[in-house]
Amino acid sequence: MIIGVPKEIKNNENRVALTPAGAKELIKRGHSVYIQHTAGEGSGFPDAEYEAAGAKILPSIEATYEIAEMIMKVKEPIESEYKLIKENQLLFTYFHFASYEPLTKAMIESKAVCLAYETVEKADRSLPLLVPMSEVAGRMAIQKGANYLEKPLKGRGILLGGVPGVLPAKVLILGGGIVGTQAAWMAAGLGADVTIMDVSLPRMRYLADVMPANVKTIMSNEYNVRNLIKDADLIVGAVLIPGAKAPHLITRDMLKDMKPGTVLVDVAVDQGGCIETCKPTTHENPTFIIDDVVHYCVANMPGAVPYTSTLALTNATLPYAIQLADKGWKKAAQENADLVPGLNVINGEVVYEAVAQAFDLPF
Ligand code: NAD
Repeated sequence: MIIGVPKEIKNNENRVALTPAGAKELIKRGHSVYIQHTAGEGSGFPDAEYEAAGAKILPSIEATYEIAEMIMKVKEPIESEYKLIKENQLLFTYFHFASYEPLTKAMIESKAVCLAYETVEKADRSLPLLVPMSEVAGRMAIQKGANYLEKPLKGRGILLGGVPGVLPAKVLILGGGIVGTQAAWMAAGLGADVTIMDVSLPRMRYLADVMPANVKTIMSNEYNVRNLIKDADLIVGAVLIPGAKAPHLITRDMLKDMKPGTVLVDVAVDQGGCIETCKPTTHENPTFIIDDVVHYCVANMPGAVPYTSTLALTNATLPYAIQLADKGWKKAAQENADLVPGLNVINGEVVYEAVAQAFDLPF
């Protein structure tokens, strides 16, 4: 198969859909890989590394779309790309169709085959192509939180791990899923006093088994939230209710009960946030302050660490890309059920129910 990898053109997107190592794996299997000039540069992969792996470099985005049977991307195509997409071309990328009607309509019109990373799903209902980004964001939440706790950045001026003779900071994590677990590992590793809240007892049993002694678990309910926020130095929002807006576990009135300089990192902001006062921010302007409480609410946290994020994402996408290239999308989906829910639009027809429902389209 001929695989094309365009350079991402969404603002501040430095990830790339295929690394030189991934290109080599595909080429080894007899596929041809074409990379748009400088597509990997933002993630630390120069053209020369792709060429050394056997890929060919193309000068423009137009040439990349023109030649490819399968396009591998990271973010959904933006308007200037719509006209480049061809009938029957396979697009393997994040789409998030239900949140943007013009994209859905454009992909229907293109008659391409759209396989969305975010809806590829395993039998246990986990989403293997979303997990890596949650891992990155969870780990980063503590790095960012520790930074914003410093006084010059308006935090409390407390070191997460303390020092001998001085107590460590208290970190409260709302939601003990992928993001929450990775955040807990990082905070615990730095020596903080960590508490994870969740509503799932099986999940908390698991966490209690695997976490070190400086991580405790407690049932998430309003009573416990109100009690714990008074003492917390850093609070990480990591709640997810699949397919729904995140519940506001911390409401506006609770901010006055927190210590001045407390830092809130609401990772769940992309689903509306689990802290009422959190509104999406950007890497250029990541924080704002309400009632002396620092809010960090960047909606695309992994974008700040493209090297790690690209490797994490491509570790997860490459096995699927290989199956798609080896067998074509139809046979690959017949043989690997994970790919079936990933198919969102096929040759002008929406085949994913939630997307059809979102825009009242035939299904
Ligand atoms: P997950 O499904 O693995 O974990 C969510 C956890 O929340 C589960 O353990 C669940 O039991 C728990 N939960 C549900 N209701 C709760 C409640 N009322 N109180 C406490 N816990 C509750 O999800 P995840 O992969 O960890 O993702 C968490 C959020 O982070 C999602 O909204 C995801 O989209 C977001 N995210 C954001 C970024 C970013 O850059 N901002 C990056 C990756 C993921």
